[in-house]
Amino acid sequence: MEVHFFPYKELYLNDKLNLTNVFDEVLSRGAFILQKDCDEFEENSKKFLNCSDFITVANGTDALILLLRAAGIGNGDEVIIPSHTYIATAAAVHYVGAKIVLADIGIDKLINPKVLEDLITEKTKCIMPVHVNGRICDMDEILKIGEKYNLSIIEDAAQAFGAKYKGKSAGTFGLGGGISFYPAKVLGCFGDGGGIVTNDKTISKKIRLLRDHGRDENGEVKSWGLNSRLDNLQAAILNHKLKNFPKEISRRRQIAEIYYEGLKNCKGITYMPFFEDDKQNFDIFQNFEICCKDRDQLKDFLFQNNIKTIIQWAGMPVHQSNLPGINSQSMLPKTDKFFNDCIMLPIHPLLLDKEINFVIEKIIEYYAK
Ligand SMILES: *Cc1c(COP(=O)(O)O)cnc(C)c1O
Repeated sequence: MEVHFFPYKELYLNDKLNLTNVFDEVLSRGAFILQKDCDEFEENSKKFLNCSDFITVANGTDALILLLRAAGIGNGDEVIIPSHTYIATAAAVHYVGAKIVLADIGIDKLINPKVLEDLITEKTKCIMPVHVNGRICDMDEILKIGEKYNLSIIEDAAQAFGAKYKGKSAGTFGLGGGISFYPAKVLGCFGDGGGIVTNDKTISKKIRLLRDHGRDENGEVKSWGLNSRLDNLQAAILNHKLKNFPKEISRRRQIAEIYYEGLKNCKGITYMPFFEDDKQNFDIFQNFEICCKDRDQLKDFLFQNNIKTIIQWAGMPVHQSNLPGINSQSMLPKTDKFFNDCIMLPIHPLLLDKEINFVIEKIIEYYAK
């Protein structure tokens, strides 16, 4: 048996007939940029997430940059992000000219609200929690701190389209959230794509201008802007895929539960995503990431058994990247430990039960040695 990490080709091949119909219909209309498919996808996402506006943009990184810009964050300001994130979170802060301040993680492996107050200075303007792997951060605590110090909360929800915390969707807690539709994300298009969730009318108005050269609906230039539009063809694909998305999330959650049940007594595993205390969080399992002993050896053993796994972000948190503007002296022991031990197991809606069970069996076999 061979277990792939993510089946890129099958995303198309398994639904080829419907997808070629979508391509043909959109291209035959000559509908390439900001056409009805974009509007429809924005409308459908708004309903799905229960937010007051959803704006499609070119990619998840742009979504964060535009949110920061719309919030007026730039030169001289500081933004707190977790070091446990993709470099794109930090890049967004870098490209608006603000200073990146890195926070350690808590028991949920997400930004730890308890360390935030120590990182806040007079220059702090924003906290950007990252809902890694499709689990929402401890938003009650983060919002409390945001309120106390008058900070904007902008969510990196790139991995969390449809994830919920106390019944509310990712992106709806503060000023807004950025979503990514990169192909391997829970809802992926066939190229790059992104979206912005917001309940703030002023922010949404600014972002609609920013993403399209500063132009309003009549084509009049009202502000400086960028070109950060989602291709209409990608919007049509996303619209099509959104129909089946709730089923795909159910399947991801089911797979996570099978892994959880199968591995909960395995002594080599030191951390697994939460399942039992899932009452306030509705996780969408963008990834199934665990921590374990002898991580590299386990990865090799699984590879020899034709099971593909991934060490996220090449095993490097943001503070270990040697880039200008990154404080590589940051003391983030929990994040360091996490990146020493973490590994992601295959999880995607097309994964079969027998493949999941094969992965479980091989992990148990490894630690029984
Ligand atoms: C994917 C991702 C991004 C960036 O999204 P792109 O669409 O690739 O620009 C940002 N943050 C996190 C946490 C991500 O996983």
